[in-house]
Amino acid sequence: MASCLSRVFSEEELEDIRLRAIDWALAHGISMRSSNLSEDQDKVVHAPFTLFPTTIPESNLQQATQSMVYFSRLMHHVAMDHQLLQQSFKHVIETDEFSNKLWQIYLQIKDDNRVQPVSLGLFRNDFMLDEKKDSPGSETTFQIKQIEFNSIASSFGGLVSQQYFLHRYVMDFAGEKNTEKQMPYNRPVEGLATGLIKAWELYQNKKAVILFLVSHNERNVMDQRFLEYEIYKQNKNIKVIRKTFDDLVKDGKLAEDRKYFIGKEEVGVVYYRVGYAPTDYTTDKIWDVRLELEKAWCIKCPPIQYQLVGAKKIQQVLAKPSILDKYISDVSIKQLIQSTFAGQYSLDKGEEGDKALNMAVNNPDQFVLKPQREGGGYNMYDEEMKRFLEVNRESNERAGYILMEKVRPKPQVNYLVKAGIPFIKSLCISELGIYGCYIGNKNEEIYNENCGHLLRTKTADTNEGGVCAGFSGIDTPFVI
Ligand code: ADP
Ligand code: MG
Ligand code: MG
Repeated sequence: MASCLSRVFSEEELEDIRLRAIDWALAHGISMRSSNLSEDQDKVVHAPFTLFPTTIPESNLQQATQSMVYFSRLMHHVAMDHQLLQQSFKHVIETDEFSNKLWQIYLQIKDDNRVQPVSLGLFRNDFMLDEKKDSPGSETTFQIKQIEFNSIASSFGGLVSQQYFLHRYVMDFAGEKNTEKQMPYNRPVEGLATGLIKAWELYQNKKAVILFLVSHNERNVMDQRFLEYEIYKQNKNIKVIRKTFDDLVKDGKLAEDRKYFIGKEEVGVVYYRVGYAPTDYTTDKIWDVRLELEKAWCIKCPPIQYQLVGAKKIQQVLAKPSILDKYISDVSIKQLIQSTFAGQYSLDKGEEGDKALNMAVNNPDQFVLKPQREGGGYNMYDEEMKRFLEVNRESNERAGYILMEKVRPKPQVNYLVKAGIPFIKSLCISELGIYGCYIGNKNEEIYNENCGHLLRTKTADTNEGGVCAGFSGIDTPFVI
């Protein structure tokens, strides 16, 4: 693919651009706490980013963007489908303790008609561009392949809204003329904040607060703060509070009438930026809090059903032939969604699962092994995957994982700018996320919009992704 740059830059020029970019990033909040130690709460470093934008075909960005409302609607319907959830999680919950805990909460609230019926999803659907292998000699084209659908704590909507302006500045400063049109306007923070505000309005109590449920000493706090400040910008009457699970263990209360209070404050909307990892639930009391919130009348982002449908297991089930027929009648929409699915296989014990397992053991470089986890760093690849599958051939544990065909984006040269480590020039690959905001109840779609995108770029030799996990940098698509 063509570069977004029209010429080669000297080492001196690159160093100058890098230093300017770092200062711009720090001056405009593309930052994270420098560590998660409580004594370092007043120190920040810039978040990892790429020095230049990354080119992507305009048609791919458009297709990913346009598909978002259909994906969100699909996931909402799947979340309301008990039968499908039960079928899908049947074997997972036998082996994966964390999924089982979430499942038990779901069972306790699913038929409770005193639970808030309105759900809020702030989703991010992640893709990579797979090279399409057309006839030899013809021009290479790319197709978007879904990596995963994030339904809880989808991050970077705040930081990437600043990154967009950083890259505009870098391109102008580098003397790359008229690039504005190739960097589509991107401020996901606006749409995500609008979603939270709309949910708050639906709760219909002007005194109620929006609760950001966060972890202790969160490093990625500015990303969350941008969302909070955007809510303030759009509606000065809404109070946002930040609390941890431990705060709620101490001060949270589910009242008789199912209203949820923290101290005297009534919660209208709870927005989870924590709660997706087993390590977030350090005590049984925290699990009790999670159950109380699910039972409460406040609007959840996400409710437990939405969290469940973000599981890799559901993604694998939806990729099975004809499953989408149940949820989507429009053939072209169904085809669009289906065309983004990479090959995915269940590893449940039995003939089919054995076949998949052998396929991966014999071709370990072609697959990714995924557990039911979020946040980056949990997948297995290559030799590690092979060993794991061989060791667990006879064990039930394999049913907690799914196997996914590896997507292979075409590497492009870029420069990763990370705090505290030398400037890296490298061949890089990118992952494109599309943000979506969905509000609905069982029978009605109330709001469904896409809210922009996130590009994350990492060195081509890295398997895992994730900015917080330390693998990638925030980037901007440069459409060609
Ligand atoms: P998580 O919820 O932990 O982010 P992901 O499914 O996004 O889990 O996997 C983490 C990272 O692993 C992705 O960001 C991507 O870089 C890489 N990855 C995941 N699935 C694939 C795949 N099918 N092909 C290539 N890389 C993948
Ligand atoms: Mg995820
Ligand atoms: Mg991911």
